[in-house]
Amino acid sequence: CGIVGAASHRNIVPVLVQGLQRLEYRGYDSCGVAVHAGGLTRARTTSRVADLVAQVRDDKVEGLTGIAHTRWATHGAPAVHNAHPHFSHGPGADAQAARPGRIALVHNGIIENHETLRAALEAKGYAFESQTDTEVIAHLVDSLYDGDLFEAVKAAVLQLHGAYAIAVICRDEPQRVVGARAGSPLILGAGKDGAENFLASDAMALAGVTDQIIYLEEGDVVDVQPGKYWIVDKNHKPVTRQVRTVLAHS
Ligand code: GLU
Repeated sequence: CGIVGAASHRNIVPVLVQGLQRLEYRGYDSCGVAVHAGGLTRARTTSRVADLVAQVRDDKVEGLTGIAHTRWATHGAPAVHNAHPHFSHGPGADAQAARPGRIALVHNGIIENHETLRAALEAKGYAFESQTDTEVIAHLVDSLYDGDLFEAVKAAVLQLHGAYAIAVICRDEPQRVVGARAGSPLILGAGKDGAENFLASDAMALAGVTDQIIYLEEGDVVDVQPGKYWIVDKNHKPVTRQVRTVLAHS
């Protein structure tokens, strides 16, 4: 299972799916990618990453900002509707139509209090289309969203019990990926020329893209944009984390 995210000025889909291929060694039962392309759009499959690559090529899925995932199911069977990225379906939206929502999210880990959160979000009118623990995070971020994805994710993670590495994009903020981690690994990759930045489960996913890596710490929340990144710690205090140069992997 693994995560890749990117905010750039170039079409980032090839980097995202190549990153997933480099994470295949971790094992997975399904995979998917979501990008900002005017609105949010996604492709998911229970087949191999190679088939996802063919799908995004055939469907011309392209975007400058995106997230991608290989899933190792813990809650909900391996199936396309349970594959990540998950979209939020706000009150009134028809989940079955799988209409692109405002939030798209990938997650590695387990949310222990997902049933409590799910009940509260259903009471607010959120419609669920999967059996995953993950989908509650997408709806939770949407329910807390007030024009600033970074703030919404910071507020959302305060309500999560369990282990997570997440990467989130928003329909209304085309140049932003927000990440957070506690109990599951997540790294930030600083791109060349200060023109793009990345998130990933490990540095190997970004081999050939960047060797400038920050190992995020427990509770960190990170705002990733093409020209800058910003990290706060578990107390939401701004922090500077050391950038390390990692050896290139083949
Ligand atoms: N618990 C989540 C799910 O079952 C994430 C699994 C993973 O880490 O890939 O969908």
